[in-house]
Amino acid sequence: MKKYSIALIKGDGIGPEIIDEAVKVLDAVAASEAFDFSYEEFLMGGCAYDLTGDPLPQETIDGAFRSDAVLFGAIGGQKWDNLPREKRPESGLLRFRKELGVFANLRPAVVYDELVNASSLKPSVVQGVDLMVVRELIGGIYFGEPKGREGDRAFNTMVYARYEIERIAHVAFKIAMERDKRVCSVDKANVLDVSQLWREVVEEVAKEYPEVSLSHMYVDNAAMQLIRDPRQFDVILTGNIFGDILSDEASMLSGSIGLLPSASVGNKIGVYEPIHGSAPDIAGQGIANPIATISSASMMLRYALGETKAADRIDAAIKKALSEGYRTKDIADFDAKEICSTNEMGSIIANYAAKCKR
Ligand code: NAD
Repeated sequence: MKKYSIALIKGDGIGPEIIDEAVKVLDAVAASEAFDFSYEEFLMGGCAYDLTGDPLPQETIDGAFRSDAVLFGAIGGQKWDNLPREKRPESGLLRFRKELGVFANLRPAVVYDELVNASSLKPSVVQGVDLMVVRELIGGIYFGEPKGREGDRAFNTMVYARYEIERIAHVAFKIAMERDKRVCSVDKANVLDVSQLWREVVEEVAKEYPEVSLSHMYVDNAAMQLIRDPRQFDVILTGNIFGDILSDEASMLSGSIGLLPSASVGNKIGVYEPIHGSAPDIAGQGIANPIATISSASMMLRYALGETKAADRIDAAIKKALSEGYRTKDIADFDAKEICSTNEMGSIIANYAAKCKR
């Protein structure tokens, strides 16, 4: 029997709660498929700093490289906010992505029919939304040099090299080929030199994908259009900081940030993680929505392990749980049959996933 080795990084806040539910669902599908998992846990973030003095111990990087894929929860919290920057949980995560070379962050935003009322936008606006944000993940202003602080002056640098734009653009066009064949590249080319290069390079890459139609949009307009008419988008291709912000915005189309998964890929090992953070405000209360993480586990099966059937079963199980009216607190409305805890939602989905045959 095939055995996949999964590196689990639970992290801080709600991280351990949501990863435990994703593991429950993975085990439920594995039980009736011809494969199995072995899990190894590694530390990252505030918990890693507390134990080792480093938010990203070398052992975690080595463990990730030994695995077939990484399933990641979330890191961070107020407790560590005043540490020097390189000791902060977020620095550990940025360094981890860089070490693994995962330059492409895929963030699907799909509105489940069952949850059209959970969005803060009108159902007529969000019904049928199915878009993918392709965000460059290890370049741009989060990584650019020089950066720093000199007294009352602080600075960061937004920088992209041609090869970085080329490789992320190829990812976006390839994904579009499997979807509705439309890429909208989002930048700020009316103001930023780096965006002018971005646009130029994306235009060049587009020539290799004649079936895909390419449009460009300034990021301020994109933020507005996502709310005005989100169905106009198929694949949104964008840089690190713009993608970070737009994908959080896109999460509210679906009703809750607790629903949206992501895959960070580009090199040998991919990292599969919800788009949300460690939600310290609800940690330990058993009310976090585990669906984003369970959905990330499904992306891991699909993209890293090639287990499409098992991924389909998880996706179907999530839909079934929602259509049966089960809701965590963040997505509860008058349709809710029952408000579930994190643990209950995980068990319901695991139970359906064990039985679901798409
Ligand atoms: P957040 O995503 O953690 O939380 C934003 C809001 O969404 C909160 O009200 C939270 O309760 C809610 N929320 C998030 N996930 C949820 C879920 N699964 N179910 C229900 N509600 C959910 O963002 P934040 O509050 O800005 O950041 C908190 C910490 O997380 C910070 O330390 C930040 O740096 C860190 N962070 C980490 C990551 C990551 O690990 N990838 C990403 C973003 C933020």
